[in-house]
Amino acid sequence: MNPSESRVASIPAGELGRRMLSAKAEQFTESVIREMTRLALKHGAVNLSQGFPDFAAPAEVKEAARQAIADDINQYAITWGAKPLRDAIVEKFARTQGIRVDPEREITICCGSTEAMMSTMMAIINPGDEIVVFEPFYENYGPDAILSGATPRFVKLRPPDWTYDERELAAAFGPRTKAIILNTPNNPTGKVFTRAEFEFIRDLCVRWNAFCITDEIYEHILYDGAEHISMATIDGMRERTIVINGMSKTYSVTGWRVGWAIAPPEPTAAIRKVHDFLTVGAAAPLQQAGAIALKSPQSYYDKLAGSYLEKRERLLKILTAAGFTVFKPRGAYYIMTDISRFADPDPIRFSAETKDVSFAKFLVEEIGVACVPGSSFYNNARDGASQVRFTFCKKESTLAAAEERFAKLHA
Ligand code: GLN
Repeated sequence: MNPSESRVASIPAGELGRRMLSAKAEQFTESVIREMTRLALKHGAVNLSQGFPDFAAPAEVKEAARQAIADDINQYAITWGAKPLRDAIVEKFARTQGIRVDPEREITICCGSTEAMMSTMMAIINPGDEIVVFEPFYENYGPDAILSGATPRFVKLRPPDWTYDERELAAAFGPRTKAIILNTPNNPTGKVFTRAEFEFIRDLCVRWNAFCITDEIYEHILYDGAEHISMATIDGMRERTIVINGMSKTYSVTGWRVGWAIAPPEPTAAIRKVHDFLTVGAAAPLQQAGAIALKSPQSYYDKLAGSYLEKRERLLKILTAAGFTVFKPRGAYYIMTDISRFADPDPIRFSAETKDVSFAKFLVEEIGVACVPGSSFYNNARDGASQVRFTFCKKESTLAAAEERFAKLHA
């Protein structure tokens, strides 16, 4: 057969794309957060966009990883996680939250909390299921919902305190609700949910027989006396809470990709199956190092929070001086800001509905500082059009460089 007569050759490339690609994958874009890091590199900008520390991880934790490789811990760990790390998670959760989980039936170690969240969603979602998501939300939860097949119901957190309306939240729950996703301390707002809020959410979960999936990755990064509560400790929630956590933020090793899900035995069995066929397992030597890291004394966590408090104060001052309206976070390491006081840098190509995008582009290209446009944290882009997010998990010299670049910015 003449090659030009073959069926494949006769389909124009665009057609082939439409027929061959997943409709799910077409529903979301590449991560804006991670794209901003690439733009920062391209333009030589100070990167205050993606939340990864640019300073060293603890020496003992790095040494533990080197040692694990030297000791030939180089083959697959048990798919749901190396025993020493699972045991260390049990001890730490018992010490910090007063709950002793079963390492054999209630923990799954994954490739980062990102995979723990995705494996959890795929393990519990059926067609027609809904999930309740507070908005603004960490951008991954959108694609998590699409890929697992859940329909998200968004509930607004409103500045300056990022409170929600109880009636709105109650109205988002119903017979189709499978779970609520709670991220506390919260990315991007810095909100730390209170006990009263936990109890209100608990009542809705119990009433509608829903899970609570809590992303607790910033549990140790707290300010102004804020206290981290795990939903699992709230009366009646132990059996319906799935805790997502990981090493990334607490030990400044975001590239190691070691995270986990703590859940009751039944959901854990389902999470473990999904996880096994998605990734088999997280890096074995790094899990070994995790077992050491999680045994760090309380002083380590106090120092971490203390150092982030200084960085928070520093960036709040820098941003305020540069003309941003800042929302002071009580936890995590981001500052959401309002950019209403700045003129739209490109009103011709961008409408007011996408001011955050044109502003972030201008900032990275012309001023030399990268941030994340607010719209990447909202379902409707226009809801985030007057906000951008900065991170302060950076060394002093990085923050000082940003301060210097901002001198060119005029509100
Ligand atoms: N959590 C970080 C942020 O919000 C980044 C996480 C990631 O890119 N995987 O910036």
